[in-house]
Amino acid sequence: MMPKSKAIIKFDEDDGDRPNFKGAPCTYMDPELFFPDEHGKPDARAELACALCKLRTDCLTYATKHNFDGYWGGTMKSDRKALTRKYERVKCPGCRSEDIMEDRNAGVCLACGLSWPI
Ligand code: SF4
Ligand SMILES: [Zn+2]
Repeated sequence: MMPKSKAIIKFDEDDGDRPNFKGAPCTYMDPELFFPDEHGKPDARAELACALCKLRTDCLTYATKHNFDGYWGGTMKSDRKALTRKYERVKCPGCRSEDIMEDRNAGVCLACGLSWPI
């Protein structure tokens, strides 16, 4: 018999660059919370989970690269699109700082250290 997992969200399909989500807060939560209407607001519980999650940078990078729907790394798809638009003044999705640096193919927040691909 398979051991029972407490995880609710499962990341079964590994496409090679998937971060190890083991122990991430979202894996113990209702997946619906992370897939709100794309034009709606993310659920406050999902916002809190991502704000406290140590995998945030990896998760944000992964979702941006794969153009996923849903709330990943504290961002909705529309936020991730804005973050990857060069020459646009963006705010860090982690701390809202405008102190952003472009480092080759990444945006890096100088205030909190969060990064994402651009
Ligand atoms: S940043 Fe949010 S969506 Fe990503 S692994 Fe952490 S809790 Fe889950
Ligand atoms: Zn920041």
